[in-house]
Formats: sequence, structure tokens, C-alpha cells
Amino acid sequence: MGNILAIVGRPNVGKSTLFNRLIRRRDAIVESTSGVTRDRHYGHSQWNGKEFSVIDTGGYVEGSEDIFESEIRKQVEVAMEEADVMVFVVDGRDGLTGMDQGVFNLLRRGDKKVLLAVNKIDSTGQVHDTSEFFQLGVSQVFPISAINGSGTGDLLDEVVNEMGEGKPEDGTELPRVAVVGRPNAGKSSLINLLTGKERNIVTPVPGTTRDTIHSKYQGYGREFMLVDTAGLRKKSKVTENVEFYSVIRAVRAIEDSDVCVLMTDATRGFEGQDNAIFSLVDRNRKGIVVVVNKWDLVDKPANATKKLEQSIREKTAPWKDIPIVFTSVVNKQRIVKLLETTMEVYENKNRKLSASKLNKLILPRLLENPPPIYKGKVIKPKYISQLPTKFPAFAVFCNRPQYVKDPYKRFVENQIRQHFNFHGAPMEIYFRKK
Ligand code: GDP
Ligand code: GDP
Repeated sequence: MGNILAIVGRPNVGKSTLFNRLIRRRDAIVESTSGVTRDRHYGHSQWNGKEFSVIDTGGYVEGSEDIFESEIRKQVEVAMEEADVMVFVVDGRDGLTGMDQGVFNLLRRGDKKVLLAVNKIDSTGQVHDTSEFFQLGVSQVFPISAINGSGTGDLLDEVVNEMGEGKPEDGTELPRVAVVGRPNAGKSSLINLLTGKERNIVTPVPGTTRDTIHSKYQGYGREFMLVDTAGLRKKSKVTENVEFYSVIRAVRAIEDSDVCVLMTDATRGFEGQDNAIFSLVDRNRKGIVVVVNKWDLVDKPANATKKLEQSIREKTAPWKDIPIVFTSVVNKQRIVKLLETTMEVYENKNRKLSASKLNKLILPRLLENPPPIYKGKVIKPKYISQLPTKFPAFAVFCNRPQYVKDPYKRFVENQIRQHFNFHGAPMEIYFRKK
């Protein structure tokens, strides 16, 4: 349903530079809590109104140049399976190399669209350098400079052109739930618990364009689609590439879902990797339920849940309105609660408020606390309405919307969240001129 762009190529051609440009680094985070300061290699981007996830495959290989080739091979194979569009990056200064040729031969065998970006073409005088790459048999090359951005607009035009419309592939309108999280958090155990029960009816619904396995879940009076996750997949294929594989799977699952159940491991706390997945869910504007699993394994002094909740909320700030459920999958504790919460978040994400309610309950709050005067200009909110978007978004109409800053938008969001139930749902506030 969602779209994923994978950036592939041999080392040093400029994949991370291009990746950083696409996600504009505004959401770059480092895994500070786990002690490893490392950049993230997946993010979210948009172009011409289309949103998509971006994966920098190069970010997952480490080691010397000679082990690169086989590593790259495996990554390219996984990326080809999961991504929708591949951008194959080569270095316009080095010219075509044997390794480029090797990677491209792999790419060509897949059924995904591959766009060839010839990077490091920093000035137009160098454009002739790209001609030798036509030897690969492509019909088009995109000369780009990942560093200064030239040519990347044309490349992105073509990228989004190749992407689908984001409609569910299985044709159902059921809520779509993805279980995501770091390896070993208990995702497969949860899915097995849900799908293994005799009284629950689980029907595999094969995807049409990928070999995804989504399952229709019925149980405890609920009905939804479980978006393909680790639990239903053969893990064997990718044992050597667990991290890369689990990341790309998570990105795929998030893209394809309405609500994400983010499983964390109580024995490890809410770590950098959990937060990285969390922010991806956030930027994809999906509903979220945070699960603290393996609750049976930890000591529970007085106020344990409260304290842990608070620490999670600090780490996910400014997001505070998130449900957190403490489960033990092995002891089957609070699984029904988890299902109920997940369905509630789905409802919240789809909640539509009438203009009359908003203007009766929210507008007066804004008039009591108007945006700060900016350069001597008074800003007066006049009207508020919900936009017909897939996730909750509201427009506040006022004079001089350009002067309204983020803190005030958060104030508006908080007002709406205080008056209505948007627990676990994303939200966006826009200021517009009438
Ligand atoms: P990766 O290994 O493919 O991810 O490559 P990096 O993004 O780390 O880039 C490798 C080197 O090429 C770095 O020193 C970059 O600064 C440089 N580089 C990347 N893109 C460009 C570009 O468009 N022009 C120039 N001149 N250098 C670039
Ligand atoms: P995944 O990698 O996220 O799919 O994690 P798994 O479902 O494979 O679980 C990893 C390990 O944690 C397995 O040994 C599970 O039996 C165990 N596990 C999962 N949930 C719980 C739980 O709630 N309590 C305890 N004690 N162990 C759990």
C-alpha cells in the first residue's frame, strides 16, 4: 500500500548523501541511548504531494571493501523484494566499474523499477560524463549532485511517477494493524498467539503485487488485517542480515498499516532502536500503541508502570497522547486490552469532528489565548475545521497565518486532544488565510 524507495549502489558513490538530502535530515536521530552513535538509514520523504519511505541500503554494511560485494548482494536482494522503486547510484567521476556492473545485473533480474542516478555531477559542464553508463542498457540516466541537489528534482519526479496510489492491495477496508519492533521483543509470539487460537479465524490474503502475507484476524469480537510481520515469514533466508532485514520489514509494515503496535522489551527499556521505529511511525502519520512486553520478567516496585510510562513519554516528546500497554505474551496478560486499545486508536485516527463542535469548543480557547503578537501584528483565529485527510488534520483560518509558529500549533493540538479522544492518533494543525 505504501511506497518505499531503496537507494542502492557500491560504497562511496554518495548514497548516504542522497539519502540525507531526501529526508532533509530534519528527522535525523542517533541511537544515543544504546551507546552507539550512529545515523539512521531510513526515513520519510515527500515529493509532488506523494509520501514515501526511503532506505539507504549502504548504511547496513560494515567492514572492509572485499566483504562488501557479497554483503551488498544480499542487501540488494532484500531491497528488491520489499522496495517499490530502486535508485541505483553510481559515481560519475569514477566512471562505470565492475562492481557497478555486478550490482546492476542483480537489479535487472528483479521486477522493480530501477532508476540510474549518476552522482557527483556537480556542474553542468560534466554532463557528458554520464554517457558511458548507457552501456548498462538503461534508457535513461539521471545526472545528479547529491551534494548540491542539482538533478535530484528530475530524479524524484520519476521516482514518484513510478509509485502506486497507496490503496490497499487486498481490497479490504478493514483496519490494518502492523506489529513492529526490534528483534526479540515478542512480535512473533504475539502474532502466533493471535493467529494460533482455534476460535480465531485466520485467513491468509495474498497481496497482489508482492508476496506479502496479510492475515484477516477475527477474535474477541474484533476483525482486522494483520499486516505481514516477522511472525508469519520465513526468517531463514536472511539470517545473516537480521538488522537490515528487520528494518526494511518494519518500514514496509508501517507503510502498509493504519495502526502500528510497537513492541518493546521490558527487560531492555525504551531504547534508541525503539525510538527510531517510533519516529518512523510518527512521520508516516500512523496510529500507534506502545507495548511494553515481557512484563512478567521485570521487578515491579510500587509505581513501576507509572514511572516507565513517564520515561517513555519523555523519550517520545512532544508526543504524549500515546497509549502504553504492559503485556506478557507468554502469560497471555492484557492481550485483550491491547486489542481493544488498538481498535480504539484506529477509531481515533478516523475521527471526524463537525465544524460546529470545533468552533463551539475549540475556537473560544484559541480566542482566549491567541497567537503571540508578531512584529506588532495581531493574529486572530476566525474559524476552525477538520480537513478531509486520511489522518486527523485541522485548519485554523486567520489573518496572517504565516506568523503562527510551531509552539502555538502544539497549543491548538493540545486543546483538541483535551476535548476529544485522539489517543494514539497522529495530528497536524495548519494555519490558513480564509
Ligand atoms: P555512500 O558510501 O554511497 O553512502 O557514499 P557517501 O554518501 O558517504 O559519499 C561518499 C563521498 O562522496 C563523501 O565524501 C561525499 O561527500 C562525496 N559525495 C557524495 N555526493 C557527492 C556529490 O554529489 N558531489 C561530490 N563532489 N561529492 C559527493
Ligand atoms: P520477535 O523477534 O519480536 O518476533 O520475538 P519472539 O516472538 O520471537 O520472542 C523472542 C523471545 O522472547 C522468545 O523466546 C519468546 O518466547 C520470548 N517472549 C515473547 N514474549 C514474552 C513475554 O511476554 N514474556 C517472556 N518471559 N518471554 C517472552
